[in-house]
Amino acid sequence: MKNKPAASNDYVLVTGASRGIGKETALTFASHGYDLIILSRHNIEKLNEVKAAAEQAGVKCLSFLTDVSDYDSVLLLKQQLQEMQVSVSTIINNAGISFFGLLQDTGIRDWEQVIHTNLSSCFYICKTFIPQMIARQSGHIINISSVWGNTGAACEVAYSASKGGVNAFTKALAKELAPSGISVNAIACGAIDTEMNSRLSPEERQQLEYEIPSGRMGTAAETAELIYSITVSTPYLTGQIITLDGGWT
Ligand code: NAP
Repeated sequence: MKNKPAASNDYVLVTGASRGIGKETALTFASHGYDLIILSRHNIEKLNEVKAAAEQAGVKCLSFLTDVSDYDSVLLLKQQLQEMQVSVSTIINNAGISFFGLLQDTGIRDWEQVIHTNLSSCFYICKTFIPQMIARQSGHIINISSVWGNTGAACEVAYSASKGGVNAFTKALAKELAPSGISVNAIACGAIDTEMNSRLSPEERQQLEYEIPSGRMGTAAETAELIYSITVSTPYLTGQIITLDGGWT
């Protein structure tokens, strides 16, 4: 164990931790001795598998089904944590969904779901837990963004807009929180090998990997390592959108 936060009631909050990047991030923090709060929307079985694996690594892990696209759900989480006298020292805003289709085929509900899950969730979680971090004048926030937030992607206008919003949110909040010793950064992921890309056929996947200079998709584990490394870096590293894409974009 190393780098564990000093206070025993300080936890790392990871949203979307039932699988993919969020799961690997939770387990990476657990392997370094950090206590965890892990969230997902409806996959309690998978979430509890992550909880069991984290506890196996010797840390405390609290799991909640919290819909981060819904502010009331986040407020309920805050209340539950207050009752347990648990506070948040690091936030990993990772939960996200994709939507694939032309803009004219994107329904109003699709648009709202993508924007609220990917972007509003960052606002809801930060608004709720930042006061605790400001009180202790330290902490790290990492928002998981996408290269499509930097460049835009055809057939992913809602998703690109949500991640472009995450990038601007990150830069603006970093300026607001730097005086309080809190860093705010985003990681703009390229193609990472998770369920989010399971719609790709073997041929599409091969073509995608051919286009990536590193010759392969990224892994959730290497994304988690980057996330962890930023949280143990100096808070002077803030307001950055760090691209992790194998040289793709
Ligand atoms: P994933 O395997 O599909 O996992 C998504 C996670 O988000 C799941 O734990 C899911 O929970 C959770 N989630 C979704 N909606 C939620 C909500 N409303 N409230 C709480 N949790 C919710 O995705 P991933 O590939 O690991 O993606 C993680 C992040 O990386 C996302 O923000 C994504 O946009 C970003 N990203 C991924 C890629 C990629 O190529 N994979 C590329 C760029 C950016 P349930 O299991 O309960 O549904």
